[in-house]
Amino acid sequence: MNWFDALNKVRIILCRPSHPGNVGSVARAMKNMGLKKLYLIQPKDFPSHISDANAAGALDILQNAVVTDSLDLGLEGTVFAVGTSCRRRSLTPEKLTCRDAIGRVAREFYGEGDVALVFGNERNGLSIEELGKCHVLATIPSSDAYSSLNLSHAVQIFCYEIFQLKNTLGRQPFLEKNFGHHEDVELCLRKFENVMKGSGFLKPGAEGKVMERLQRLFRRTRIEKEEIDILLGFLKTIR
Ligand code: SAH
Repeated sequence: MNWFDALNKVRIILCRPSHPGNVGSVARAMKNMGLKKLYLIQPKDFPSHISDANAAGALDILQNAVVTDSLDLGLEGTVFAVGTSCRRRSLTPEKLTCRDAIGRVAREFYGEGDVALVFGNERNGLSIEELGKCHVLATIPSSDAYSSLNLSHAVQIFCYEIFQLKNTLGRQPFLEKNFGHHEDVELCLRKFENVMKGSGFLKPGAEGKVMERLQRLFRRTRIEKEEIDILLGFLKTIR
């Protein structure tokens, strides 16, 4: 694993960004720190000359950005997703500081699949649904009086922490596991939901909470490919 390959495993995903200026500044923040893969989920205004102006020397990042309709599509092929927020919430994935979360990202460099850093909309942050698709929740420590950073500033700090990993490359604990990709985990969850509805276990209207818990369980355990296959095989035998 060389440094270039490691950086290429990292996706920066912006959910519903509303200000084109921020999107451009994010591209610049990424390029300054050697990152390339930008994903935009339902951007309000893209492409835009305002993004281009803010990107300055990082136009290539904008030109190669992947634009999609759903976070699920943006997460396809990833094995680990870091949700980011300045807010405390109740039912969340494990909470970490920005630095500790990036330490976890480092362990993924040796595995198979990409890693995602997921950022929320400027006004509302990440929705509960978006956060539910992440494995950990990372926060940049900041003032209680005003804890919310500008979107591109938050991205800059996460990207900077990733850049600092360069000095430790090759010294991270090895994670030699075949984790399920995002789309496989989602498929397994949907099959569970269908079977539980069919059996009458899930009552109409009660799906939300149960499925939220199940998805937390799946993401917390970092379910592996072979384990998903066993569960899918089992679910198939139930009518
Ligand atoms: N008002 C929104 C703030 C959104 S700021 C809210 O209450 O959630 C836009 C995005 O920048 C956030 O969704 C998050 O992804 C990132 N961000 C801002 N401040 C942050 C912080 N202190 N720690 C981690 N991420 C932060």
